[in-house]
Amino acid sequence: MIIKPIISSDLYKSENVNKRHFVSCKAALPANLKLGNKNNVTNKKITNFFKKFFSLLSEKCIKIKNADVKKLSKLSVSDFLVESQKLIAKSKKYDPETMAPVVFAPLGNKKLAMVYDATSNVIYVNTENKVKPGAMLFSALAHEYEHMAQNMQILRTKSIGAKAIDEYSEIQAQRNISNFSEMYKNVKKEELPNLKEQLADIFPFLESFVQAKDSGEEALRVWTQNVTKTEKATIKSNWLNLQKMIVEKYGEIEPNTKEAKISEEYYKGFMLDGSLVGFKKLSTKNEIEAYTSTFINFYNYLLKKIF
Ligand SMILES: [Zn+2]
Repeated sequence: MIIKPIISSDLYKSENVNKRHFVSCKAALPANLKLGNKNNVTNKKITNFFKKFFSLLSEKCIKIKNADVKKLSKLSVSDFLVESQKLIAKSKKYDPETMAPVVFAPLGNKKLAMVYDATSNVIYVNTENKVKPGAMLFSALAHEYEHMAQNMQILRTKSIGAKAIDEYSEIQAQRNISNFSEMYKNVKKEELPNLKEQLADIFPFLESFVQAKDSGEEALRVWTQNVTKTEKATIKSNWLNLQKMIVEKYGEIEPNTKEAKISEEYYKGFMLDGSLVGFKKLSTKNEIEAYTSTFINFYNYLLKKIF
């Protein structure tokens, strides 16, 4: 609730700054914000701080209309997410083709509404969390798309784009193979014929896994190494396609620029959290910016609903 004292301070009672407009992203920067003597260095610093703060808030605010909110509030959770995704893409000028898909999955923590997986560019919505359509869900989605934007900036950055893609593909490949092995670890050779039809898509893969498993530890190690390598190559080619689309649309970021430094910080933030952002490290640039988006869009949505 960092904003509360600012909204209720005398500065914002001025007729020039309407607090409802401010939260509704309509207000420009408070240009006539005066903090005593203009020549005073400290006051200038404070003014700059507020200018930056408000420009950050207004940058993160999704443009939605009262009519949008009325429509959204009548939808089911999945339709709500689809329609909100469209509004976010439009407002932030994200390419609809490169928007991270939203997937329902149990996340093992009831408190968590959703999470962005940087290594697969997927937003997972927690099936164990019963958030209904509304301000909370909208702002949570805005938060996760903020992470997507951070990741897309990483891809556009010459100095780290390739490194990030390699790392993401490796992490994701290892995770996929380990999930697969865990899921089918108890399948026995004699059960295979019964599974042929049911698991047609993955059957050859499953067969080779059971064979390796039965042949001992070393065979299983070699199998894991080989399939992880193949899996990584597939994932990597998907990432490279996405990178190509993003670069064609938004251009590359040169190394040693201010933007490149920010990208490097984002990358560090994603890696700190083991790629599934939002679980532990709340003090990263990634999270501070994403929570700014949560905050502003929560009130943005709420006020559109009320007025
Ligand atoms: Zn987050």
